[in-house]
Amino acid sequence: MAKVIYFDNNATTNVAPEVLEEMLPFLKEQYGNPSSMHSFGGGIRKSVELAREKVADLLNASPMEIVFTSCGSESDNFAIRGVLEANPDKKHVITTRVEHPAVLNVCKYLSKNGYDVTFLKVDNKGQIDLDELRDSLRDDTAIVSIMYANNETGVIFPMEKIAEIVKEKGVILHVDAVQAVGKIPIDLSKLPIDLLSCSGHKLHAPKGVGFLYIRRGTKIKPFMIGGHQERGRRAGTENVASIVGLGKACELAKGDFEEENTKVKALRDKLENFILGNIPYTHVNGDRENRLPNTSNVSFEFIEGEAILLMLDKHGICASSGSACTSGSLEPSHVLRAMGIPFTLSHSSIRFSFSRYNTEEEVDYCIKVLPEIVERLRSISPYWDEKKLKDIKKVEK
Ligand code: PLP
Repeated sequence: MAKVIYFDNNATTNVAPEVLEEMLPFLKEQYGNPSSMHSFGGGIRKSVELAREKVADLLNASPMEIVFTSCGSESDNFAIRGVLEANPDKKHVITTRVEHPAVLNVCKYLSKNGYDVTFLKVDNKGQIDLDELRDSLRDDTAIVSIMYANNETGVIFPMEKIAEIVKEKGVILHVDAVQAVGKIPIDLSKLPIDLLSCSGHKLHAPKGVGFLYIRRGTKIKPFMIGGHQERGRRAGTENVASIVGLGKACELAKGDFEEENTKVKALRDKLENFILGNIPYTHVNGDRENRLPNTSNVSFEFIEGEAILLMLDKHGICASSGSACTSGSLEPSHVLRAMGIPFTLSHSSIRFSFSRYNTEEEVDYCIKVLPEIVERLRSISPYWDEKKLKDIKKVEK
């Protein structure tokens, strides 16, 4: 296969070579069941527990507070539905309009099934109004579920302030941190979040593994019922190799946030600044100050994002329009819509998301081909023609 330039790391990431190395024995000779009584299984149990320690260490949490799951979506479902089941007298849920479908669709489902859900709005930078959050909290609010960082724009919510407001009212706070874990430091010994979701494949671990952090003492029912695995909180024989891989990925992520973020941010900024400075009618979507260092969401006026994606793809460059789950549908991104971005601008948006494996040469190549792509697509765009006509009329006046 030809070399791929992968700028779609918010959709998924490559498995780090060190992670794969650590996993391989558990796909070969170390195949025991961690629940078995014999010492062969006991050795596997130890490896699972070591992985749990590494995950907990990344977040400054206790290993007992980490429950392994199959993905970010499972962690989100577990958190919200598990809390509601454990607190049946409370029928109000608060979330935002810009959540990933793993939270948004659960909340929409709940709103049709006996729950009252408040969907907080966002401003044109993608930020929530903290006063609206404060005013929305009620005595019967069971849970507040707010993401740490947005998968489409990279916008980071002010989590310290959110936690302070929610905990002041004694309400359970769930945070979908699928895009934040491994990208920005999170210290759960200082941040009073009760539940936090993570997905392995966003931080160079394999697909099919994730975890839910459950702060000690949080009232929650298991989502998956069956055996006694994960101390009765999540049934099912553990996905040992992937759990071990996730542990290693967390250890690597902890290694050097600052160095890595500086490198990734420099690549992101190089591409973004080039686009804004050299391709007219381009805009960055979302709060540029409070943003993941790896994400850039740009609108190219007068052309369809999908058309740019296809042309980039021909050059071996992978990017995305909105989240991977919504691309392919003609609906504009619900995130950009919630931010009040006009329909046509939402349709013309592209997300570039970087990782530590990207290089400056890759960015340079993209910089070389992108202006031609945009120019070509604009030359055949009816919107571009209309715009030019308007400009001519303006000059004539
Ligand atoms: N939450 C966010 C913010 C995400 O970006 C994603 C995946 O893109 C998910 C949840 C779902 O994670 P998974 O694909 O592991 O189910």
